[in-house]
Amino acid sequence: MSKIQSLRGMSDLLPEQSAIWQYLEDKILSVLQSYGYREIRFPILENTELFKRSIGEVTDIVEKEMYTFADRNDESITLRPEGTAGCVRASEQNGLLYNQIQRLWYRGPMFRYERPQKGRLRQFHQFGAEVFGLQGPDIDAELLTMTARLWRELGISEHLTLQLNSLGSAACRATYREALVVYLSGYKEQLDADSQRRLDTNPLRILDSKSPQTQEILLGAPKLDEFLDADSQAHFKQLCGLLDAAGVAYEINHKLVRGLDYYGKTVFEWVTDALGAQGTVCAGGRYDGLVEQLGGKPTPAVGFGLGEERLALLLDAVGAVPDSVARHLDAYLVAVGDVSTAALLVSEALRTKCPQLRLQNHCGGGSFKNQLKKADRSGADIALIVGEDEAQAGTLTIKYLRENKDQLTVSVDEAVALLSKG
Ligand code: ATP
Ligand code: MG
Repeated sequence: MSKIQSLRGMSDLLPEQSAIWQYLEDKILSVLQSYGYREIRFPILENTELFKRSIGEVTDIVEKEMYTFADRNDESITLRPEGTAGCVRASEQNGLLYNQIQRLWYRGPMFRYERPQKGRLRQFHQFGAEVFGLQGPDIDAELLTMTARLWRELGISEHLTLQLNSLGSAACRATYREALVVYLSGYKEQLDADSQRRLDTNPLRILDSKSPQTQEILLGAPKLDEFLDADSQAHFKQLCGLLDAAGVAYEINHKLVRGLDYYGKTVFEWVTDALGAQGTVCAGGRYDGLVEQLGGKPTPAVGFGLGEERLALLLDAVGAVPDSVARHLDAYLVAVGDVSTAALLVSEALRTKCPQLRLQNHCGGGSFKNQLKKADRSGADIALIVGEDEAQAGTLTIKYLRENKDQLTVSVDEAVALLSKG
């Protein structure tokens, strides 16, 4: 019979990689918690309307990347392509937003029907952070210093650059949009096909077109920063001042617009050149209009999403995965002879008394030599040997696999003392 394969762009994460992911997730979690962020979980499936109304009807995501189905009751439902919309929906529905400040995080799979390549999958995974109820630049600065701290913790700061821009208010964006369309319409025939199409639907997205000819035309185009209202200008200036004070370096990129309609004022991306075309590792910004757009009371909000696949690739590419991450065992228990009861009881006692100890029991019998080979291959530092003599005496023998130290036979309590010392 033929074998059934996974869907294109949906990959399996095998133990060697998942060890890196766990390391990564532990770091992210501890940084988020150190700033007082709390976890929110919400469904992977939502009403299609939620994403259309938030991300925007004429964005790439909604136009061509969503996994949308009719369920058995003929309702249109969609696998979440990102987390912000669901996070806002859940927070609003459960009364977390009105007159409150929330600092939230979530993680999990997201789904987009894209062309799979390195760092671009159809099922990918994000960590997200969203803050509700704060409108000043201080919280924007907090999110950015928090991500900068994460890069330091992971040892990858030197490989990431922060790109920063302000999209201003909805009103000044609309004025700018008109000016941009007037200018670009004069060059319509010379624009790339995507940009021609976007001229009517989403002209701001033309700014980040990859076509060199379009980029050349854009050199003479009106600039978004010249259209910013006073409030947005002051917000951006204060944010830059806070980042300067905190020593977080950034590049102002007036062409950074992001592919989702809900952003206004601050937008940012952390990018690397170590991953080829898929260089954006973390992206986000302010979306003060979204809660209201989804039926809630006006609520300022800001957040980011961070791509775990890309971060894991980056850690690997720049050699930032500590050696210890690959090791999943401290000790391997070798049981020689008819000693399965003693081996079981000794190992259980050790796990009870040394909760940190990662100990694997050899199961399935076999010669001493063979078991010791397995102990060595397991990556553990020590083998714990239970033979018939040890079983009789209630002891075990510690054999050091990576150090030139004599083996020793000890009681369980003595072993606990030795193993707890590390
Ligand atoms: P890109 O420009 O690379 O398509 P995006 O602007 O569509 O990214 P966002 O919607 O802002 O991405 O998502 C935030 C982060 O999630 C991205 O910076 C990236 O790290 C990650 N990400 C987005 N799409 C994918 C994907 N298809 N596969 C893997 N990671 C992704
Ligand atoms: Mg994309």
